[in-house]
Amino acid sequence: MEREVIVVGAGPSGSAAATAMAQRGRDVLLIDRARFPRDKTCGDGIPASAIEILYSLGMKDKVLASNFYEIQHVMLSSPSGHILEAPIKHGEKGSHTYVIPRMLLDALIQGHAVESGASFLEGQVTGPIIEDGRVIGVKVKNDGTEEEIQAKVVIGADGVTSSIARELRPDKQEDRHRAVALRAYIEDIEELPRVAEFYLYNEILPGYAWIFPLGEGRANIGLGMRLDKYRKANRSLEELLDVFLNMPAIKSRLKQGGKIENVSVWQLNFGSQDMQRAYDGAILIGDAAGLINPLTGGGITNGVQSAVIAADVVDKAFSTGDFSIEVLKEYEQRLNDRLRPGMRRSYLIQRSLIYFPSWVDWIVRWGGSNSMVAKTFIEKL
Ligand SMILES: Cc1cc2nc3c(=O)[nH]c(=O)nc-3n(C[C@H](O)[C@H](O)[C@H](O)COP(=O)(O)OP(=O)(O)OC[C@H]3O[C@@H](n4cnc5c(N)ncnc54)[C@H](O)[C@@H]3O)c2cc1C
Repeated sequence: MEREVIVVGAGPSGSAAATAMAQRGRDVLLIDRARFPRDKTCGDGIPASAIEILYSLGMKDKVLASNFYEIQHVMLSSPSGHILEAPIKHGEKGSHTYVIPRMLLDALIQGHAVESGASFLEGQVTGPIIEDGRVIGVKVKNDGTEEEIQAKVVIGADGVTSSIARELRPDKQEDRHRAVALRAYIEDIEELPRVAEFYLYNEILPGYAWIFPLGEGRANIGLGMRLDKYRKANRSLEELLDVFLNMPAIKSRLKQGGKIENVSVWQLNFGSQDMQRAYDGAILIGDAAGLINPLTGGGITNGVQSAVIAADVVDKAFSTGDFSIEVLKEYEQRLNDRLRPGMRRSYLIQRSLIYFPSWVDWIVRWGGSNSMVAKTFIEKL
């Protein structure tokens, strides 16, 4: 049987795309290898801009009823220990910024996609089916058997290791446009209530370490580094986390010496490297399309943003029945118009942090909350 749309991956991007298309009456099959709820390695910082897009998909009541932990301030700490604290603005529709364990957030959006009419299949997609250069469906492994499912359009939302991108994308992501990051949960920290903390210091620049509180002494804690810098560092991310936890400013806040759990490491592909994201019969969104902000490491706003643009373009394509690259590349154009200026700015700042690290001290000390650096952390988290 042929479906209208297959969405591969039910993270925030895939579930948002499936929701948007199901709400327009499209026949959508959403596939994920995981059973929900499932964890995803992340800082769990969910900006108001991402929440606002979820509101536009009809999730306001669900978000508000969930009583997630709200964040009201951002704190930046520079290599010399200068501190800048700035309030976070609400979204235009009144949305707030939260720290939400992905175990909860992703299940909420995936459930919303199903409620909106998408059908969900648990299965491992091994790749697209390509006929005469056109994507016509996907191969899925389920319970030890492999089946082929055809569709008019395939949306690849299966994250940074995307099985769809791997076959369609001719070029590789360069190390300077990639990062690795470690995330853990800490149980015994004296948190700064409702403050997302960012620590920029020489050893990991242009990356940073973070503490995103969840309340009652719990926080998401971690650090990330650009991949080329990490390869030269000769230290594992676990060792670097240990260094961070032993910094006097942090160590003094650990009530029982640092009760760490659920440590995990994952990769990030930055949107600072241009790539093709529309193909004959297929579109890539979210991390599968490499849309992470190269300064902050935030990818959820861009992911759900790409999802709604993709849904719009695919829906339009149904009116003519033409799913060729000529039609679907409108997605790429609209996405670039929306995200490229911010990506370029963030990449420029990120590179400046490498070549002029003392600049961070200056900015944090004198730049104030209106500086481009502070604003980027506040808005993109
Ligand atoms: C350590 C770390 C910290 C981060 N912190 C933040 C943060 O605080 N804020 C923020 O905005 N961003 C953060 N990010 C980035 C953010 O996690 C991603 O941008 C976001 O998860 C992208 O969502 P997505 O839906 O595109 O992909 P994902 O969330 O990766 O979802 C992809 C889905 O596809 C499924 N899948 C994968 N392969 C297959 C397959 N072959 N077949 C079927 N299903 C498949 C997976 O099971 C998964 O459910 C962080 C990233 C890391 C690594």
